[in-house]
Order: sequence, then C-alpha cells, then structure tokens
Amino acid sequence: MKLVGKEHVLHRQADLVAYECDGFTLQRGKARAVVFPGETKEVSAVVRLLHRERVPFIARGAGTGLSGGATPLGGEVIISLVRMKKLLRVDLDNRTAVVQPGFVNLKLTQAISKDGYYYAPDPSSQYACTIGGNVAENAGGAHCLKYGVTTNHILGAEVVLPDGEVIRLGEDGIPDQPGYDLLGLITGSEGTLGVVTEITVRILKAPEGKQTILAYFDDVEDGSRAVSDIISAGIVPAALEMMDRTAIEGVEAANFPVGHPLDIEALLLIEVDGIEAGFQSEAEDIVDVCRKWNVREVKVAKDEQEAAAWWANRKTGFGAMGAISPDYLVQDGVIPRSRLPEVLNKIRAISQETGLRIANIFHAGDGNLHPLILFDAQKPGEKEKALQAGSRCLKACADAGGSITGEHGVGIEKKEEMRFIFTDEEIEAQTRIRSVFNPDNLLNPDKLFPQPGRCAEVKQEIKEQQGLKV
Ligand SMILES: Cc1cc2nc3c(=O)[nH]c(=O)nc-3n(C[C@H](O)[C@H](O)[C@H](O)COP(=O)(O)OP(=O)(O)OC[C@H]3O[C@@H](n4cnc5c(N)ncnc54)[C@H](O)[C@@H]3O)c2cc1C
Repeated sequence: MKLVGKEHVLHRQADLVAYECDGFTLQRGKARAVVFPGETKEVSAVVRLLHRERVPFIARGAGTGLSGGATPLGGEVIISLVRMKKLLRVDLDNRTAVVQPGFVNLKLTQAISKDGYYYAPDPSSQYACTIGGNVAENAGGAHCLKYGVTTNHILGAEVVLPDGEVIRLGEDGIPDQPGYDLLGLITGSEGTLGVVTEITVRILKAPEGKQTILAYFDDVEDGSRAVSDIISAGIVPAALEMMDRTAIEGVEAANFPVGHPLDIEALLLIEVDGIEAGFQSEAEDIVDVCRKWNVREVKVAKDEQEAAAWWANRKTGFGAMGAISPDYLVQDGVIPRSRLPEVLNKIRAISQETGLRIANIFHAGDGNLHPLILFDAQKPGEKEKALQAGSRCLKACADAGGSITGEHGVGIEKKEEMRFIFTDEEIEAQTRIRSVFNPDNLLNPDKLFPQPGRCAEVKQEIKEQQGLKV
C-alpha cells in the first residue's frame, strides 16, 4: 500500500468482485488485490515487490477483453492501469502521439480530430477499451481492413518487465531498427511479457471524404460472394462488415435500430474513403458487384448522420444480443475470405446440431468471423454446450486454413484450441520465448498456451534423462 497509496489499493472481498472476470464472463476467479499505480515508477515498484515475494500478477486495462486475458485464476494481484490515462504528447509534424496505457482508444481521435487527424484502429469497444489493452491484444476493428491492426500503428513503448526493470522498445518511428523486433513481439502478447506503461502511436490524416453503403441480401451466400468479388476487383474498402439474419434481429431489437428489414438473410455495411474521385467510383463499383449477386436493395448513406446511425447499429452489435437472448458467447475466428460461404454453412450446421442459435456479426473483408452463440446459462448444461459450439466454430475456421482468433486473443478461453493450429513443438517454442521475458511465469500465468502435450513432456523427460539443460 505504501508504494501507491492506501486509497489506490482494493483488497476487500466485496471490492474484488468486479475484477473476477473481463468481458468473457463464463469463467471467473478471485484476485488477491487490485492496485492502481499512477506512474511508471509505481508500476515498477509494485512489480519488483511482487516478483521478490513470488506473487503472480496481471495487468488490466478496461477489462473489455473477450477471452479472459485479464481474469484472475486465483490469488493474483491485478495491476490496473486506469489511473494512467493521460495523452502525453501529440506531434502533428511527425504524425505521432504518446499516451499512457489507460488512455481510452476513442479519446485519441476525439482529441486530434479538430486538426484533421485520427487514430485508425477502432475496436467496437473503443469507447471504453484502453490503448494498453489494445497493444496487449493487438486489437483490430472495422476499419483495420484498409489501415491495419494495432501493431501497424505502434511506434514505441515503455515496458515494465516482470522483474520490475523498465525498458523502451522501438525508436518511436525511426524505420527499420536493427536487432529483433521486440515491439512487434510485445504487441499481441496478451500481457504475458511485460506491463506496457507508455505507448507512441502513429496518427493518420483524416481522409478527404468517405461514403457508406448498405446492401441487403436474401441469401448469405450471395452476400459472401459479393465480399470476395469486391476485394478481388482490387477495391480495398476502409471497412466491409457483414451481419446475418439473427444478428439483424438482435440489433433491431436493441438500442440503436435503423430499420433493417427483418426478413433478409444478410447485410453488408461497406465504407470507402480517400480522395473524392477515388471513393465515388469505388462506391459505384461496389453497388455493381452487389447487383451482380442479386442484392435485394443497396443504398448509399445520404449524409453523415445516416452513416453514423448505421455504424452505431453495427458497433453495438455484440451487446445487442442481450435483447434476444439471456446470454451469449462471442467467438472470434479467421478464415480465408474465399471460404466464407463454406464456413458459414458449417456454423449453421453446428447451430442446428446443438439447438443453439448462432448470430454472425463480423469483419467480412478480412475474413474475421464473430459467431455469437446464444444460450441461457440458467438451463442446465447449456453453458457447456455453448462453449463446445464455440470450439467447433473455431475448428471449422482452422480446418478452412484459418485461425482461432482474429483480434480477441487466446486468454484462458482458447488455450486448448491453440492445438488446432500449432503443433506441440510450435507451442513449446513460443513458451520458451515467454520464459526469456517472464522466466518465473509470474506475469499472467496460465494464459495463452495450453499445458504441454504429452509429446512435449516426453521429449522434455528424455532431455532431462540425458542431462541436457531444458
Ligand atoms: C462490445 C465489445 C466489442 C469488442 N470489439 C472488438 C473489436 O472490434 N476488435 C477487437 O480487437 N477487440 C474487440 N473487443 C475486445 C476488447 O475490447 C479488446 O481486446 C481490447 O483491446 C481490450 O482492451 P482493455 O483495455 O479492455 O484490456 P483488458 O481487457 O483489461 O486486458 C486485455 C489483455 O491485455 C492485458 N493488458 C491490459 N493492459 C495492459 C498493459 N498496459 N500492459 C500489458 N498488458 C496489458 C491484460 O492482461 C489482458 O491479457 C470488444 C469487446 C467488447 C466488450
């Protein structure tokens, strides 16, 4: 308590309840305490103490993660970064900004938009999630199709290592540094390699203009084919999102309805941006592609207000499932775009076999699926059934040559599913990298990787018998 001040520590059971999980609410655990450092020096001092006392600890931003990354498994100290929420510097000449880790994503664009700039990665949770959490998860978002995910916008970071040492990574924008890309390694490491305490990000000049297109389809497959054709025509929209019929039912029943028809099978929400002449003709080409694929109706937003309403409807889509189901599980797989119709069919089959409704809201342009599995946790066995259905959806993605996470991370939720895409050896290689930074596995233990498979264990035993250092 001395290190951060008594008022910045929570330790009573009642106060810890809010920290039992993140946005993945199906698994909960008890933290030992939550500390709220106000600066890097305090983070370092807290980490040094925990390291010395061998107490496991977890960094936490806003707790909006969807894979249990910030969830304690029992007895960890949570280091919450929410007090470190300053925008430290904006350098328009060099197009960079420096933020503390608890700075909320959306506030950056809000702070620089008056000068004609914005921060591109826009997770749908951007009104709440922190840039520190975005770095840890390598967060994506609707507009990452054209502009890239978080890792493409991070230029430097200050990191407190699991023994309390403070290091700087990246050279804040100087390209092609020699040596290993440690900044790239930290980005997406899900809080297992260090606590990020300061971040330098790239900011972009806002495009001259944009246009938003909405297309309604009677057949999911037609919508999926339109997605593939738009990209293969050489158009890279700023965003290309899809929702299916169940998802549309949810968003129209929730807080931001916009009057989508309830009897269509799929909609596409597409944004093109850039210079006027370029995006106007791209919009026309997109409308033509949608017509080729039997679109029922396709329209261009008449003004910014209409486009904003369509986006609010989409971006609140996960939460909207609460309007049509007592509980839901958000999944996050990736597939090659060309396999979209096939994988969506498999997801439909999983829904039929399990009897659970599955809504799909996703970043179609980059093949990042979000099946939302609707269930009722009060019904015996239904939560387990939902988890199994989620795992089967990820298997379908992996089998199609994709991955088990596009942006929400592995956390505790998808540890076992890592085996769908990595061999034991590949997992072991990654845990060895973790050990270089986090040798005692005190920082965010038991996240991201499954327990070693039997094959890896046997190899380790053989090496030990041979007296080899492992
Ligand atoms: C409604 C909703 C919509 C979402 N939409 C998207 C989306 O479009 N795209 C997307 O990518 N994600 C999305 N997410 C998931 C989530 O918002 C992101 O993963 C986000 O990056 C998490 O940020 P956070 O501040 O809440 O981090 P937390 O949930 O607090 O933590 C997430 C992970 O990061 C680690 N961590 C946090 N801060 C630090 C730090 N300073 N240093 C080191 N490790 C740290 C934690 O230990 C944990 O492992 C959504 C979530 C919700 C609830």
